Amino acid sequence: MTTETLTTADPAGSGTPEALLSVRDLGMTFPGPRGTLRRKAGVRAVDGVTFDVRPGETLGLVGESGCGKSTTGRMLVRLLDPTAGQVSFRGKDITRSSQHELRPLRSRFQMIFQDPFASLNPRQTVQQIISAPLRAQGESKAKIQSEVRDLVQLVGLAPEHLERYPHQFSGGQAQRIGIARALATRPELVIADEPVSALDVSIQAQIVGLMERLQRELGVAYVFIAHDLAVVKHISHRVAVMYLGRIVEIGEKQQVYDNPAHPYTKALLSAVPLPDPIAERTRERIVLLGDPPSPANPPSGCTFHPRCPKAQDICKTEAPLLTIGRSATADRQVACHFPEA
Ligand code: SF4
Repeated sequence: MTTETLTTADPAGSGTPEALLSVRDLGMTFPGPRGTLRRKAGVRAVDGVTFDVRPGETLGLVGESGCGKSTTGRMLVRLLDPTAGQVSFRGKDITRSSQHELRPLRSRFQMIFQDPFASLNPRQTVQQIISAPLRAQGESKAKIQSEVRDLVQLVGLAPEHLERYPHQFSGGQAQRIGIARALATRPELVIADEPVSALDVSIQAQIVGLMERLQRELGVAYVFIAHDLAVVKHISHRVAVMYLGRIVEIGEKQQVYDNPAHPYTKALLSAVPLPDPIAERTRERIVLLGDPPSPANPPSGCTFHPRCPKAQDICKTEAPLLTIGRSATADRQVACHFPEA
């Protein structure tokens, strides 16, 4: 199957010159279920994903569970090897770099995980956890000690926490430890994979606020992965919406939230609570029918068509290209035959 995504910003190259991270036609096909005809053809979990991340910005990557956003995130830092496409960091193609070749770059891009406890070694103290990336870089003992003390304070923990173990912390505090570890080498890019979805709502806001402050202070860029558009609203500069392995809409945050062009984005946004109680009571809520289809058996044409309130005959046979919408700017791309005007 050929990719049907148009890369209007940079059709053939390895990214715009100012991009920190350039992703072009990225794809991941997993082996299909054993004993089925799909075994050999495989399951396309990510297909034709294209975007750039600029220095110091946040790209929100949003979609329902199973849409391929976490697989995409893992490919960006090469925790998974893509089966198609290209990832470039600061203009260097890292898609097929060996782990040895990646080593000098590892300190410049890091990852934060959804479950902070699962990602922290329970037998190590906070001091050991946060200092691990600095030890790997061969920093001196004195430098590591002073950096680690700075880092715990930067993320809102106290120096006395350094001798404690992960189980002695709440979920929010454990995620602060994960953030401190990710920032230890002062990376330029952090991929945050659902960093707040395992936390209470009140704690979510604190962690998002902390990440915003750290971005202002350190200039780090984020790819912030979430299943909820409400979570990424404040922190994102741009937003990409994924459905069944593909980006269906990408653009500046304000454009996407104020005027969603893809019916799926519109439906997701209609479920985000509004602060104004009158607007909240009178708004149109779009309820999508059914669950997202399995990537092992995707619908023909536009894969959203079985759930789309605007679907017409062409949608069942022809996959729409990700291209500039009728009323959109070059930064706004939509994959729909009938985008909202
Ligand atoms: S292409 Fe058709 S089915 Fe797909 S989102 Fe647009 S209107 Fe809906």
